[in-house]
Amino acid sequence: MEGAVERCLVALSRALPDDRVLTDRDVCESHARDESEAEGSMPSAVIRARGAQDVVAVLTAAGAHGVPVTPRGAGTGRTGGAVPMRGGLVLACDRMRGDIDIDVRNGTAVVGPGVVTRDVHDAVEAEGLFWGPDPNSWAECTVGGNIAENAGGPRTFKYGATRDWVLGLEIVTGEGTRMDVGRRTRKGVTGYDLTSLVVGSEGTLAVVTRATLRLVPNPEAIVTMLVWLPEVASVPRAIDAVLALRVVPRCVEMLDDQTLDILRAASSLTVPAGARALLVLELDGTERAVAEDLERVGNALSAWTSFEVGVATVRADRERFWSVRRDMSRALRRQARWKISEDVVVPRTQLPALIDRCRLLSERHGIRMPAYGHAGDGNLHVNLLWDEPSQRPAVDAATAELFASAIELGGTLSGEHGIGALKAPFLGLEQSAAVIEAQRRIKDTFDPKGILNPGKIFPATGHGGC
Ligand SMILES: Cc1cc2nc3c(=O)[nH]c(=O)nc-3n(C[C@H](O)[C@H](O)[C@H](O)COP(=O)(O)OP(=O)(O)OC[C@H]3O[C@@H](n4cnc5c(N)ncnc54)[C@H](O)[C@@H]3O)c2cc1C
Repeated sequence: MEGAVERCLVALSRALPDDRVLTDRDVCESHARDESEAEGSMPSAVIRARGAQDVVAVLTAAGAHGVPVTPRGAGTGRTGGAVPMRGGLVLACDRMRGDIDIDVRNGTAVVGPGVVTRDVHDAVEAEGLFWGPDPNSWAECTVGGNIAENAGGPRTFKYGATRDWVLGLEIVTGEGTRMDVGRRTRKGVTGYDLTSLVVGSEGTLAVVTRATLRLVPNPEAIVTMLVWLPEVASVPRAIDAVLALRVVPRCVEMLDDQTLDILRAASSLTVPAGARALLVLELDGTERAVAEDLERVGNALSAWTSFEVGVATVRADRERFWSVRRDMSRALRRQARWKISEDVVVPRTQLPALIDRCRLLSERHGIRMPAYGHAGDGNLHVNLLWDEPSQRPAVDAATAELFASAIELGGTLSGEHGIGALKAPFLGLEQSAAVIEAQRRIKDTFDPKGILNPGKIFPATGHGGC
């Protein structure tokens, strides 16, 4: 492949301005990893795209020479999506920002894929508007990465994941063809929904070069409730009690007992003695509706907890809590030399069963497994923490058994982190051979030469494991 890469880089040096193609070792090294344990191979070059025309040039040259291309946003992915598994080129999209073009009256925003997620929130909220996706990495991750992963977050329970907030996309396919899919209007059903197909395709079908986002009015009032519970098994019951009131909280999060133990020792949050789980509810709406809902929810929860419910109405208080929640992943990371964060989903009623399984696996394999996450969606981040390299086989066994348990409990392998490189070997646990083959054919249509993000999603087979 070396000769092919050389020829491809010569073609790119002719097609692109000088500052786009970077081959320095430190730049290549820093683009060979993401926020997962995935080990890939060193890219030969990083192409720092500034616009769709650069992306067209890269994919055209890479296609002509059969060179793999790994699209990349901020590299915060958890499954190795932005890690080049077969070397080649990393296509860095984080400089494709431009202005955030907000149409207030029609409730849309047009953005480049390199815009940082929180910048979208800040810009639209300044106009009294709201965009749903709120991954906890929002201070770093990019809209392009959110689209590729169909990212979710605490608000997904009420507002859905990224796919629900994207109306249209400008994309460049693996063949280097630039096209607009979807629409700018709020409704529209013309043809196949290629926008929804590209959202969540993990950079394997096309590179996103621009997105039209759907916006709604920003809610007038928000209140966050911290509900300490005596046992994890109470979590789904307490959620049932809230939903029975026909109140739909925008966030329904939980932390298990092992996570609370870590927070007790290592955070500014005061965890009451005896609390074995934390349920976090966030309500939004008009001032009046939120005040009424707060009272009704508080009353309903009194059957499930004797701890005092913490209530944060002021933005600064809410932010104090959410900064602890957003730092949770890194706080756990500091507890051990190695950490893997999984994100399996089960039907909500099965959350206690899933946590029981985690306890069994933790004991059987001698690995700490604190879990927390988006309880309303049944989506748990099960963390595997370990300190000795010799524990790695036990970690791998526990991970495989965790996936099998999630499927057995009626769940799915990933709620938001995607399949990437790390879960590709497990795809067949959840999807039939026919479903996998149908997806391979879609991949062939968008990327007939198989150059876009090889080694992701699909388990390796005689097809080349694209
Ligand atoms: C502390 C922490 C907390 C997190 N919390 C959440 C959470 O709450 N919810 C959640 O969903 N995720 C979460 N994540 C995972 C991660 O942040 C998200 O998946 C995010 O959407 C990735 O964005 P990124 O810009 O970093 O993308 P990258 O990691 O760079 O790439 C991710 C994937 O997107 C593809 N890609 C990137 N840009 C493009 C593009 N322009 N066109 C096509 N494909 C592209 C890449 O090829 C790769 O497959 C968290 C991660 C961390 C480290």
